[in-house]
Amino acid sequence: MKLTPQEKATLDLFLPGTISKDGFLGDDSRHVHDIVQMDQRELTRLGIDQKDIADRMSHFIEAGKKGLETTVDLGDFTVQVQWQRGLILCPFGEKRRVPKLIAIVCNKKREQCIRYSQLNEHMIREHGFFEGSGSTFRLNPAELVQILEIQSSS
Ligand SMILES: [Zn+2]
Repeated sequence: MKLTPQEKATLDLFLPGTISKDGFLGDDSRHVHDIVQMDQRELTRLGIDQKDIADRMSHFIEAGKKGLETTVDLGDFTVQVQWQRGLILCPFGEKRRVPKLIAIVCNKKREQCIRYSQLNEHMIREHGFFEGSGSTFRLNPAELVQILEIQSSS
């Protein structure tokens, strides 16, 4: 596929060393749109939409913020939020910046934890993007749904 200069500039933002040291694609050679489309199919299979996932992720971020970097016990879950004192740009190229914040949520019953950033939450909500496979912050939709016990709101 031939890219326009603007598309090319946008894609560069996903590569290592522009916005993030490690980039957003890992060793995934697929086009960003194809990655989004594949994960969209997975969401359809799971019967969950990206807003349900983002809402749940943001619920834990908000709960974790109250702990000021210590672990917050929520009963069935614990969450710890680490704020890296800064903002990060979204690679999709809007002007807004997202706080550089990481949440680690553990599901006590399942004995499983998952780590994600506020940028992950933003990209899932606004762009349906879970990052490329092998990327440091790649999230697997099915794992998110399982560990965070996400239910469909519709
Ligand atoms: Zn964005």
